[in-house]
Amino acid sequence: MIIDHTRLRAFANRIVAAGGSSPDEAAFVADHLVEANLRGHDSHGVGMLVAYVRDFEAGTLKANQTPEIVSDTGTISVWDARAGYGQVIAHQAVEWAIKAAKQHGVAVNGLRNAHHIGRVGTYGEVAARAGMVALHFVNVASGAPGVAPFRGREGRFLTNPVCIAIPGTSNNEPILLDFATSRVALGKVRVAHNAGKPMMEGALLDHAGQATTNPSVMYTEPRGVVLPFGEHKGSGLALVCELLAGAIVGSPSVTTSTPPERGIINGMLSIVIDPARLSTRDSMMSEIDAMIAWVKSAKPSDPDLPVLVAGEPERITRAERLAKGIEIDRETWSQLLAIAERYQIALDR
Ligand code: NAD
Repeated sequence: MIIDHTRLRAFANRIVAAGGSSPDEAAFVADHLVEANLRGHDSHGVGMLVAYVRDFEAGTLKANQTPEIVSDTGTISVWDARAGYGQVIAHQAVEWAIKAAKQHGVAVNGLRNAHHIGRVGTYGEVAARAGMVALHFVNVASGAPGVAPFRGREGRFLTNPVCIAIPGTSNNEPILLDFATSRVALGKVRVAHNAGKPMMEGALLDHAGQATTNPSVMYTEPRGVVLPFGEHKGSGLALVCELLAGAIVGSPSVTTSTPPERGIINGMLSIVIDPARLSTRDSMMSEIDAMIAWVKSAKPSDPDLPVLVAGEPERITRAERLAKGIEIDRETWSQLLAIAERYQIALDR
């Protein structure tokens, strides 16, 4: 299925609205998901609606939630999203942090109990476009941990993503480093499983601890595991994401209390810094421009694969998908159509 982003936004909007969301919330969540598809992160695109519908039907995802402000000193705040749509409440929390950082130079927000916040880069991008530097550490507490620690063959984490965003260069495109600390995001295993395609080498072990490229090991009992990226380094980053966004923020941790019936829960620690408090904007921008040019000037080892910087692949894919449409694999599409049929939602109105 290849579908134009505007049709997909409208379709996703109607599915979210079926869970009782206000028109604003439904549009916001649908836009977030389709923007993830446009950037090439299908793992965090409209395919997530299958889990969202499961969770709003089970009552573990609550529409139209307002966060509880647990504490707020002006520079440090803690919000409890009360299982509301993560996309909406994480965005509000980061907007709060941007405003506070503009005033005080730095702001920290701890977000607890958000339902899935989606593509974390979204929040880094908002902060960087406002001229801020942002660091986001996220944990995922959603039932069985599917990611093994380094040297392990049993899951102890989920995909605990990290995002670091640095304001744009002269063309205002941020440096946006945003990835799961697992070798691949679990959603990418789901997309490969749905599409009947093998995963890359080095990402999965089956339940017996043998390396495999078969994504179905994550969907059949006894389950296999996804490996952390970068061996002990990625595994260490997964652990600190778990601690920073779980224990330290006060959000559920994958180790303690995540029965599957809780649905998807993300915690997030966000640190937003106004870089103008550290150096002057002009010198900073010219240094950033120069560094990016320097990095990209490295001769590519494969002439067909130029050196890119973080954030660039997503911008390239977005331009392509805006022009050519978004490809949704057959299984994901049929799952979405089944939901649409149940809620009597038409693809086009
Ligand atoms: P990925 O492996 O595609 O890595 C993406 C990062 O690497 C980006 O910063 C990208 O710009 C950079 N990158 C990719 N190719 C590059 C190249 N050739 N040169 C330079 N930089 C390059 O991402 P992922 O780990 O699959 O994560 C996908 C998405 O899933 C992210 O947006 C993440 O936030 C999201 N995620 C969310 C959750 C959650 O619970 N909410 C959990 C896990 C992941």
